[in-house]
Amino acid sequence: MPDELLGSVCHMSEDRFETLAIHAGQDPDPTTGAAVVPIYATSTYVQERPGVHKGYEYSRTDNPTRTALQTQVAALEGVGESAGGGCIATASGLAATALIGYLLKPGDHIVLPDDAYGGTFRLIAQVLVEHGIEWSAADMTDSATLDAALRPETKLIWVETPTNPMLRVVDIGMVVNAATSVGALVAVDNTFATPFLQQPLDLGADMVVHSSTKYLGGHSDTVGGAIVTNDADLLERLRFLQNATGPVPGPFDCYLVLRGIKTLGVRMERHTSNATVIANFLADDPRVDRVWYPGLPGDPGHAVAAQQMAGFGGMVSFTPLGGLDAANELVSRTRLFFLAESLGGVESLVEVPAAMTHLSVEGTALEVPQDLIRLSVGIEHVDDLVSDLDQALG
Ligand SMILES: *Cc1c(COP(=O)(O)O)cnc(C)c1O
Repeated sequence: MPDELLGSVCHMSEDRFETLAIHAGQDPDPTTGAAVVPIYATSTYVQERPGVHKGYEYSRTDNPTRTALQTQVAALEGVGESAGGGCIATASGLAATALIGYLLKPGDHIVLPDDAYGGTFRLIAQVLVEHGIEWSAADMTDSATLDAALRPETKLIWVETPTNPMLRVVDIGMVVNAATSVGALVAVDNTFATPFLQQPLDLGADMVVHSSTKYLGGHSDTVGGAIVTNDADLLERLRFLQNATGPVPGPFDCYLVLRGIKTLGVRMERHTSNATVIANFLADDPRVDRVWYPGLPGDPGHAVAAQQMAGFGGMVSFTPLGGLDAANELVSRTRLFFLAESLGGVESLVEVPAAMTHLSVEGTALEVPQDLIRLSVGIEHVDDLVSDLDQALG
């Protein structure tokens, strides 16, 4: 191995976010010097003698492209290579959530937010429940409501902040305190904020979960997920569960997320500044009924968000005057905002959660307003985005 190629490797723990995004886990390839981590398209690895190998045996268990991604994401969530813990990259965000579900046993109880991502809710209320796991939904912006939902059997508190699609902000430190009283694990879905804006492990959470399909990948071209923890035992258990159950991402998908994350910092800055302009435009517009954006000073989540986040993110929800008909018309008139599910890509998206991403919560406590419109504000020129919404409002 040409060691001189590795001589310039920097001291990761001292590096800042944007630098880690480009260098953590991404040393030059030891055999060729390739500056970019290769896509290791291999299922298996040649061994010298039975059990004697270079650290890889089979790509369900581990793959070098996946290892690079895992090191990168762990570093961005504040888990350095020397610390206990690390990251597990998964086949999707929901595969990450399902792996965490495997930590639980029949009789265990989960508390989740009463406006959780629809797929998280469906997994818990329609799948885990079949395996004897119980759940309650609570408004986690209110500590009394959260405390009332806790039971001696509560083993997991699921936090999403900001929530999807109501953009409520949950005080992570408050939930961590509540969890301590019953000995529950806290998992934070950090998909909306990304580690650039919010680092839940620093606030005491046990696990961070990502749908890397969204901002981490950032280009709407791949589906993936991740779990990060600073607890070495938990990491080992989750690695065992992933290897035993199989929801791994392929090397090409790992490469896409790895590449996307290199620009996460600059993208999040632009997503946030564009969303701020759009939230203010909508809030001042007489054709709009209500706007939800934690960056607006009047938003109920503003104070907590200002304290626990480095910025308010790229997601904005609103209701137009005129109810469901007006909402349906608006989303069919946008030109730059594509009418589509998902979020977090460079291109702007618009959707009606009640009829699209959140269909599965209809008739439950997690129901969202029928005429709510959710925007994933992209990084196009903000003036073009405002003009598009202006014409679509009619
Ligand atoms: C999309 C999403 C998920 C699920 O991730 P997939 O990659 O679609 O499986 C979980 N949480 C949030 C907040 C999401 O937006």
